[in-house]
Amino acid sequence: AIPLVVSISTALSAKNGLLIRNRTAFENSRKISTVVFDKTGTLTEGNFGVNRVTTLKGGISKNDLLKMAAAIEQNSEHPIARGIVAAAKKEKLELSEIKNFQAEKGKGVSGEINGDLYSIVSPGYLKEQGKDLPENAFTEAVETVVFVLKGEELIGFIALADQIRKESASAIKTLKDKGIKVLMATGDNEQTAKSVSDQLGLDGYYSQVLPHQKSELVEKLQSEGAFVAMTGDGVNDAPALAKANIGIAVGSGTDVAAETADIILTNSSPADIVNLILFGRATHRKMV
Ligand code: ADP
Ligand code: MG
Repeated sequence: AIPLVVSISTALSAKNGLLIRNRTAFENSRKISTVVFDKTGTLTEGNFGVNRVTTLKGGISKNDLLKMAAAIEQNSEHPIARGIVAAAKKEKLELSEIKNFQAEKGKGVSGEINGDLYSIVSPGYLKEQGKDLPENAFTEAVETVVFVLKGEELIGFIALADQIRKESASAIKTLKDKGIKVLMATGDNEQTAKSVSDQLGLDGYYSQVLPHQKSELVEKLQSEGAFVAMTGDGVNDAPALAKANIGIAVGSGTDVAAETADIILTNSSPADIVNLILFGRATHRKMV
């Protein structure tokens, strides 16, 4: 039989947006000293709208650029991809069939349209390729900017806007009040990361973090004595979720993240991390 305390806490958890996949991890939640949040889809809505489409090449219109990007992004489940495809559908653009779709985690995607290779990539990837970022790419706004390449040539960029979740600020304040260190690790650009961190009063942030670097970060924090809870929604977050003392997947995220996680936030709300810690503490008291 399931002990009474366990069944009560499971029911309570379910009501409060927590799906517990690993009982031991749940009970250990009282030990959490550091929470590392993923940005997109966790602290923010992860609901991107296209703000600006800029072409850098004569003969290619904004709609041409959007159409090509959307044709490729149809094959990706990243929130950026969903935003680009939705914008193209809104413009009633017909999306071509593509060949050889490839996704490079934390960097971007590519595919062939009529024999030409198109890639949609992060600013970090563009810099790695030795290319200069266009001066008008970044503005004061909290935007995620992705760059469109035809072959090796940069032909334009698309800026997408996300919003900080309304529950994020108070959840972070509560965690900090409990003496928990709150950090963010994101694959997104420095400006956007800093802006989100400043708005939420985080203890620190890491930007342009590649997937393997997320798990290295967890390891580094652990080697400094931290008991780490890490949140994530994407395929790219799975290794870090596995490495963390408590891996937490966001309900709106991918199956891969959910399968790796100890706990799933069914409402995708950072506020439920506060519940997790409270229930973990209460359950522990009742058991000892
Ligand atoms: P986050 O940590 O915010 O969830 P990711 O690691 O998923 O970020 O992605 C990091 C960056 O890689 C994005 O900000 C974007 O520049 C690029 N990227 C990832 N997936 C895609 C995609 N489907 N299309 C375009 N760019 C992408
Ligand atoms: Mg993500």
